[in-house]
Amino acid sequence: MSTAEKLYEKLKNVESGTSGPYSLERCRQMAPRVDEIKRLKQEKNAVILAHSYVHPEIIYGVSDFVGDSYQLSKDAKATTADVIVFVAVRFMAETAKVLNPDKEVRIPSRLSGCSLADSITAEDVRRLKAEHPGFTFVCYINTSAEVKAECDVCVTSSNVYDIVQRIPSDQIYFLPDKLMGENVQDEMKRRGVAKDIRLYDGTCYVHAEYDAERVRRLQAQHPGLKVLSHPECTRDIIEQSDFVASTSGLMDYMQADQTGSAYLLLTECGLAGRAQVDMPGKTFIGPCFECKYMKSNSLDDVRRVLVHPEPEDIIEISPDVRAGALRCIDNMFTYAEMVRD
Ligand code: SF4
Repeated sequence: MSTAEKLYEKLKNVESGTSGPYSLERCRQMAPRVDEIKRLKQEKNAVILAHSYVHPEIIYGVSDFVGDSYQLSKDAKATTADVIVFVAVRFMAETAKVLNPDKEVRIPSRLSGCSLADSITAEDVRRLKAEHPGFTFVCYINTSAEVKAECDVCVTSSNVYDIVQRIPSDQIYFLPDKLMGENVQDEMKRRGVAKDIRLYDGTCYVHAEYDAERVRRLQAQHPGLKVLSHPECTRDIIEQSDFVASTSGLMDYMQADQTGSAYLLLTECGLAGRAQVDMPGKTFIGPCFECKYMKSNSLDDVRRVLVHPEPEDIIEISPDVRAGALRCIDNMFTYAEMVRD
């Protein structure tokens, strides 16, 4: 089978968001770029990590690893490649660089922000620490390396509830995601864990868009519909959901679910695209929103950073910041392993 045919077989069912539809003709146009990137990867001893929210032709055409922030952090830590091309947003590429100081980490997107990571600076954290003495500062992984360097423990959507529960301190300052923080407060109450959890005021502009009233209308129109959501959504959405998890957790849930239900996926459109490729027999209903930052990565950008990376495409982190951010991320791995035990 040719590259174009293989790509089309993978992508023909993608209907969510603006990435698709993928015709055989469109896949034929992409195939030379896909083949070139695969050849360049070998030449440069490079590995491509892709977040589930980026365009499907990157995930299924050229990536070596795909997943959520936690899974990709682990993949970045384990790789033996000389070059890591991180197709996602800047804070994730920074995490890969913190974990791999001797490797060159490159980011294809020139619009690689994130409304959460951009909502807070290291200076903000220093001020908040002075205002909250005795608090343990827990940061979501969606933060810059400078912000992580000022915090005690990092978390991802895969492990946030278990880690906040496990931290010995009962005074937690959680940043920057206010909506996830509210869900952490609620989950700790459900678990009978008494902690004073203070919140910063950042939000993910994609997940904040989902409207609980619209979800209720879809549930009424489609009896048996399963609502699956991400912890960056609002409290109302979480209360309305049948299952809440990271993108990897949501994929695992759908893979295991044999009820024949249709799903409403309340996260970035890319996950619905992945589910449509990996689970062709399942039914997906309803709208989804796209992240302009994640979707700003293209195959041409991936090629560009493999062939001629500009200084702005290469992640640089000072030794001091790296040491602080590494401590914060290592604490996450330590608490996550404790949770698993
Ligand atoms: S989906 Fe939201 S949290 Fe994720 S990168 Fe985009 S803006 Fe940031």
